[in-house]
Amino acid sequence: MENIIILGSGPAGCTAAIYAARAGLKPLVVEGLQRGGQLTQTTDIENFPGFPEPIGGMELVEAMRKQAERVGTRFAVGTVLRCELAGDVKRLWLDDGSELSCRVLIIATGAAARWLGLASEKALLGRGVSACATCDGAFFQGENVVVVGGGDTAAEDALFLGRIASHVTLVHRRDALRASKAMQRRVLENPNITVRWNAVVEEVLGENAVTGVRLRDVKTGGFSTLDATGVFVAIGHKPNTEFLQGQLALDDEGYIVAEHGRTSVPGVFAAGDVQDRRYRQAVTAAGSGCMAALEAAKHLEGV
Ligand code: FAD
Ligand code: NAP
Repeated sequence: MENIIILGSGPAGCTAAIYAARAGLKPLVVEGLQRGGQLTQTTDIENFPGFPEPIGGMELVEAMRKQAERVGTRFAVGTVLRCELAGDVKRLWLDDGSELSCRVLIIATGAAARWLGLASEKALLGRGVSACATCDGAFFQGENVVVVGGGDTAAEDALFLGRIASHVTLVHRRDALRASKAMQRRVLENPNITVRWNAVVEEVLGENAVTGVRLRDVKTGGFSTLDATGVFVAIGHKPNTEFLQGQLALDDEGYIVAEHGRTSVPGVFAAGDVQDRRYRQAVTAAGSGCMAALEAAKHLEGV
């Protein structure tokens, strides 16, 4: 049986591993399908402290992994499909049919952006299509961008991009925003943001980079084209918690409910995007990985 298992090899899992290993707990990280997590999907990271010049997402997370290995972390290939978390021994079943058990579990399985599901969106991902305005917005200084969605994330992204881009068009499928009243007011009063009501993106246009979107008016069925170099999809996120159903407290969107890294089940801790519907940044994921590992160490000491 392992002392401590960490699920996920993104910034949260790697940071938890660094702290657990340095506490002498010899952690095992089960890395999941996406070795390195979401950062491996992006190129330049400009907002992770410590790097005066942009650092590649892959490079950053590989450095975290090497650091975790240097202090004594072991990494295992595999994805957890099912688990039993009640009781002192936590049991995990992996995709290769093997079983692992541990005294303490840290879940850092992240969250994935919801996408529109268009082939053109997939083809132009990272070439003007993004799901993270905070991460990629700065690349669209003085350009026209589109934000898709009508919730708080879309509103927040539109306001954020409104300070950078030449103009922002918020494309929403209904005639009313879902975002909070305060956010709605800020969006609607912003002269740099136009809302296209009752419209859906049918296609992202461009060969090697985004040049615009083709919209369909859901009321009239008519099509139109909008020029833009950036398309920010902000239609929600989905935490990777399917394998946890019924095992611990999740909120109404499936995020793990955790306080200072502690979940509803003793001996089970959570870190990163899987327990954070608000910030979803590499640095906050890393910070919460530290917190979860410190809490896990206290738990093992019986504190
Ligand atoms: P993730 O990075 O999502 O890692 C989750 C890990 O869990 C993965 O290794 C996965 O394989 C594993 N896993 C999932 N399910 C299982 C399972 N069942 N069993 C075992 N393992 C599992 N943030 C910034 O701060 N700056 C940026 O510039 C920035 N740019 C971004 C660009 C893009 C395109 C995207 C998508 C995100 C960006 N982010 C950025 C956000 C940042 O990547 C995330 O906030 C951060 O990666 C979250 O870290 P995490 O460790 O919680 O989860
Ligand atoms: P959300 O509230 O679920 O909103 C998603 C939006 O995307 C909705 O307007 C929805 O349209 C639209 N949408 C969903 N699927 C779509 C599709 N396939 N095509 C086109 N549009 C689609 O998600 P969120 O905005 O990410 O917010 C998630 C949670 O975090 C919320 O509780 C929110 O309050 C919170 N949050 C808070 C803040 C803040 O307080 N500052 C910031 C960000 C997020 P419909 O409206 O028609 O369903």
